[in-house]
Amino acid sequence: MDNFDVLVIGGGPGGYVAAIRAAQLGFKTACVERWLDPAGKPALGGTCLNVGCIPSKALLDSSHHYEFIAKHAAAHGITASPELDVATMQARKEKIVGTLTQGIAGLFKKNKVTWVQGSAKFASPGEVVVSDAQGKETQRIKAEHVIIATGSVPAAIPPAPVDQDLIVDSTGALAFTEVPKRLGVIGGGVIGLELGSVWRRLGAEVTVLEALPDFLAAADQAVAKEAHKLLGRQGLDIRLGARVTEAKAARKQVTVSFEVDGQSETLKFDKLIVAVGRKPNTEGLALDVAGVGVDERGFISVDERCHTGVGNIWAVGDCVRGPMLAHKASEEGIAVAERIAGQKPHVDFAHIPWVIYTWPEIAWAGATEQALKAEGRKIKSGSFPFMASGRARAMGDTDGFVKVIADAESDAVLGVHVIGPNASELIAEAVLAMEFGASAEDIARTVHAHPTLSESMHEAALASDKRAIHF
Ligand code: FAD
Ligand code: AMP
Repeated sequence: MDNFDVLVIGGGPGGYVAAIRAAQLGFKTACVERWLDPAGKPALGGTCLNVGCIPSKALLDSSHHYEFIAKHAAAHGITASPELDVATMQARKEKIVGTLTQGIAGLFKKNKVTWVQGSAKFASPGEVVVSDAQGKETQRIKAEHVIIATGSVPAAIPPAPVDQDLIVDSTGALAFTEVPKRLGVIGGGVIGLELGSVWRRLGAEVTVLEALPDFLAAADQAVAKEAHKLLGRQGLDIRLGARVTEAKAARKQVTVSFEVDGQSETLKFDKLIVAVGRKPNTEGLALDVAGVGVDERGFISVDERCHTGVGNIWAVGDCVRGPMLAHKASEEGIAVAERIAGQKPHVDFAHIPWVIYTWPEIAWAGATEQALKAEGRKIKSGSFPFMASGRARAMGDTDGFVKVIADAESDAVLGVHVIGPNASELIAEAVLAMEFGASAEDIARTVHAHPTLSESMHEAALASDKRAIHF
């Protein structure tokens, strides 16, 4: 039996960050992680590093370069015809993933976190059994505090069973060895749009089937409308209100049946990606043995401090309520380690940034206009189009806008919504502003470098007071 002060189950961005922070705070810390990479080698980093954020961004960046050379370089006076080498693109992605996951192993060494390779299962509230890939018990660990960070796995729908050949989930879609000619995507959410964009840029004809009648319902509707228009113009065939009822794989193609307005339609694809969301990963953990409960959707029940209500057991990241985002998981992990150390950290759930890495990128933080109006809040808003930004013009990336929403009376910034080049980076300023309780005038009076895309944030803040200069 090994004894630790803190035991973390899961080495994704929730778990590995919690483990490092706990060790920094002086706790004897272990992290159990069972992930095996495609070569069968144990790896840290969880979904995010192995089959999520990082590999998807590697392919998004590579495919963005390809499309730029194919379609946009000529406007800069550069003529070139790109040749696609999917194997090299995938090898580059794998190398990035390997470097980063090994980097976490290095950080564990540096911070003296013990990595226990294998699968953990509760034997009692403060004790876990670790087993190897064959299910053989390898170790028993007792710990004063346990942090569950077991993450999530792709959700499945009965009409479209994943075979990882013709019908794939996000993991399969990150590993295609050639560009499918006709690609179907079930689900027009973040993952569906990002992966659909990768393969469309590389030449696939992509159809996205989304059951809901509204596009990106969680985003500000002005942004969702613009995204729908721009992604459609790029060639993503987005069918809204299209509920998939059957997907049959036969003779190297998939026949997908779906219903739109009560009418049945079918389409044939060479590959089908099922991107209908993710579900919490708690199978095999024996949560009942620990006395830890789950809610009706299977998420581990926790309070706002990520405490499960059972002894010293905490849970963070995708396996608990809230957005399934890596940075949310990490912030919760840090906060829990600090709470164990008796500190009083705070995670501001109201201002977690959301990003969709299409091009243009989409990013927001805070409330949407439709949510604020539904609450009856008196608001004002200002928008500034990238078309009017000198830097966006120089880049040749003028699609989209920044929208700043503020309280009509206090001027406090309530929400910022960006669709445009580098929106993922621009949103950080808005998050910081809201975190500090800034007013739109605070952003408007902050000096922004010229010429930068960030001037559009400045101008949108000015526009909320009807005094934009350049539009
Ligand atoms: P995970 O990363 O899922 O890690 C959980 C770990 O626990 C896994 O490694 C698993 O092997 C391990 N584990 C589970 N059970 C056990 C057990 N019993 N014993 C031992 N180990 C166990 N988020 C973003 O913020 N930005 C993005 O750009 C982004 N892109 C994404 C793209 C894709 C294609 C996907 C699929 C996801 C993306 N996400 C993105 C979501 C992000 O990956 C997750 O929010 C994040 O990984 C959650 O972190 P986590 O630590 O809670 O869980
Ligand atoms: P996200 O949760 O952001 O990953 O998005 C998943 C999307 O898949 C949601 O917008 C769902 O409405 C959509 N979806 C779920 N089931 C189906 C289905 N049977 N057919 C089409 N879309 C679906």
